Amino acid sequence: MRPVAIIGGGITGLTAAFHLKQRNIPVLLLESSSRLGGVIQSVRRGGYLAEFGPNSILETSPVISDLVRALGLESRRVYSDPSAEKRYVVRGKKPVCLPTTPVGFLTTPLFSLPAKLRVLAEPFIGRAPQGLEESIAQFVERRLGREFLDYAIDPLVAGVYAGNPRMLSVSQGFPKLYALEQRYRSLFVGQFLGARERKRSGEVSKQDARKFSFDEGLEVIIDTIRSRLDAEIQTGAPVRCLRRADDGWRVDLEEGAGRPIECGAVLLALPSHRIAALDIVNTPALDVSPLAEVSYPPVASVVLGFRRADVGHPLDGFGMLIPAREGFNILGALFSSSLFPNRAPQGEVLITSYVGGARNPLLPHLPPERLAAIALKDLETILDIRGRPTFEHVAVYHRAIPQYNLGFAKFRALMDDMEAGAPGLFVAGHARDGISLGDSILSGHKAAGKIEAFFASNDQRPRNLSHPVSA
Ligand SMILES: Cc1cc2nc3c(=O)[nH]c(=O)nc-3n(C[C@H](O)[C@H](O)[C@H](O)COP(=O)(O)OP(=O)(O)OC[C@H]3O[C@@H](n4cnc5c(N)ncnc54)[C@H](O)[C@@H]3O)c2cc1C
Repeated sequence: MRPVAIIGGGITGLTAAFHLKQRNIPVLLLESSSRLGGVIQSVRRGGYLAEFGPNSILETSPVISDLVRALGLESRRVYSDPSAEKRYVVRGKKPVCLPTTPVGFLTTPLFSLPAKLRVLAEPFIGRAPQGLEESIAQFVERRLGREFLDYAIDPLVAGVYAGNPRMLSVSQGFPKLYALEQRYRSLFVGQFLGARERKRSGEVSKQDARKFSFDEGLEVIIDTIRSRLDAEIQTGAPVRCLRRADDGWRVDLEEGAGRPIECGAVLLALPSHRIAALDIVNTPALDVSPLAEVSYPPVASVVLGFRRADVGHPLDGFGMLIPAREGFNILGALFSSSLFPNRAPQGEVLITSYVGGARNPLLPHLPPERLAAIALKDLETILDIRGRPTFEHVAVYHRAIPQYNLGFAKFRALMDDMEAGAPGLFVAGHARDGISLGDSILSGHKAAGKIEAFFASNDQRPRNLSHPVSA
């Protein structure tokens, strides 16, 4: 009985593998590196619990909470502290609280009076002309004005995508925002009316969704899925070539990494540039090389611990976003020890800053000690920090987050064509379905459903699987 080969052991591939196994479909997960989890990496050291990659998952869909329940992780899930909901945006070199209510918006010093009046005019602005692909900067400037772009959206885009708002496509990178204008003409009206629909579907908007991690960090979900699969996982298994056969696919690993694997279907849960590097032999021929053009700017995550007494700012929130106009090197920072409990020893705090992205793509190439010094200098100015760090770690992601820039639709179309033109080949993950962890979990879940339907329609679905499949 041929397994589904799942290529890539990040959260997408692991989620898909878990769901397929639950449906009695045999899987074999192939991960090139020696560890699972992709960019997720939680490290406990010297009393600190640090995330070197992503920090939290937004619970935007019941599919995410169902996965946590199915893994038996509800008792280990930790929601962010409600008092850490506050976000700061830096203006005039100081953190200013981002308003969350209409009254807060009218009274905040974050925006000038003309900027506030411009935002209030939003319901009277018409839709963009049909067929025009706008960047998020063009879209926001047109609907909400320049100052709102500079002090709300630009820092948010840096915090989420590490991206450039003048390059990111609103329809590809912010599809819900784009759909609000298309459907309701106004974002304010759409936000109000869309809330009712979300309530019906159980979906929660990103700004209202609860954030969570686990008692020992995000790697808990990776370790738990691994423990449920185990024999179906091969690490140190870099895939090089996929060859379509009459009744399935043959997967070849890099030389010396293992024997070819015959399988019934293949799921690619990889970054776009890693898909582009694969040799896919199919009739008709598939040219996946354009996927190498998707931009993935580098990001360094600089995790620093301090004595609480050395930090002037109360760190009473989620973190701070930094507009490009403010001229700092860091894109923003998370107040990690305010977000979740037990992240720092008693009397100490943990702050995670991000450096680089599309704003400063050269900086992450600096040596780690220089990156730590750069982040420290910015934090000293903004958060009034005096003493030396008590914890320090720099992790560099040379290709961090895919940018759904203007023209990204052609890459999505290519991935659609791959699935349509090569039966039994599926694509999931941040290359296609959204860049957050929640998006990746949804993507892995959706891919499992498509693969199940594929087997059902070909009447190939294994029905009585008594032994797990291994290589
Ligand atoms: C610094 C940083 C911070 C982030 N913060 C957050 C956050 O707080 N919240 C949030 O929701 N999202 C965050 N994200 C985004 C989120 O972490 C990712 O989008 C998500 O983890 C992607 O998961 P994935 O499984 O699709 O891909 P990946 O994690 O990239 O996994 C792909 C896997 O495929 C393997 N692989 C590659 N090539 C091959 C091959 N040829 N053969 C076999 N295996 C291969 C890789 O080794 C890797 O393990 C962050 C991302 C970064 C980089």
